[in-house]
Amino acid sequence: MVHRKRVWKRYWETSNKVRVFISGPSGAGKSTIIRKLLALDDKLVLSVSYTTRGPRPEEVHGKDYFFVSREEFEDMIKKGAFLEYANVHDHLYGTSLDWVRQKEESGLDVLFDIDVQGVEQVKAKAPQGCFIFVVPPGMDTLKERLGSRGTETPESMKLRLRNAMKELAYWKNYDYLVVNDDLNRAVREVSSIITAFRCKAENAIKALGWLQEIG
Ligand code: 5GP
Repeated sequence: MVHRKRVWKRYWETSNKVRVFISGPSGAGKSTIIRKLLALDDKLVLSVSYTTRGPRPEEVHGKDYFFVSREEFEDMIKKGAFLEYANVHDHLYGTSLDWVRQKEESGLDVLFDIDVQGVEQVKAKAPQGCFIFVVPPGMDTLKERLGSRGTETPESMKLRLRNAMKELAYWKNYDYLVVNDDLNRAVREVSSIITAFRCKAENAIKALGWLQEIG
């Protein structure tokens, strides 16, 4: 297993793949941005995480998440199967290294929708990804969006707001901040950031063997 982790560490650190990480508190509108982004960019694929949370009515196993029991998840931790994992709102969520590698080897760039704890772990391993943080335009909007389901009790609203505030304090770990006050503009901004990141000389050169040979 130690061997497996070492092999993975080398793959992760030396691979020339573009990896995009998007975080943001619930209420920031991150999922909608991601959905629109994926429809625009066919080189981008969203990482399908493993989770111990139960599926919501519209969610499909293998498409939205791999839904597993806590025992299965803990077994995967022991086997070193995760790039990162975290406890979010009392459920475990983790990114499968095998899944990511398979997609990357098929030529796709992987987009990771992971929380602030996951990003901290990834950055500690390999800091060279593209790290984007989506924020609401202000506290009033955040409160409004958090309460918009209409199913929250005052206590659960307070908890959701407190969690969102904690997450917002992690903005410094990211390279880019996107304010989601206008959905289409936010999608355009994220898309432009990804394009610029792909074109960064240090990323683009990896696919240009002939140019590297020149010197
Ligand atoms: P939800 O349960 O609403 O689908 O997701 C809750 C939170 O878990 C989201 O903020 C999402 O970014 C985060 N999340 C989803 N998958 C992963 C993962 O593999 N790792 C980490 N660290 N967070 C994740």
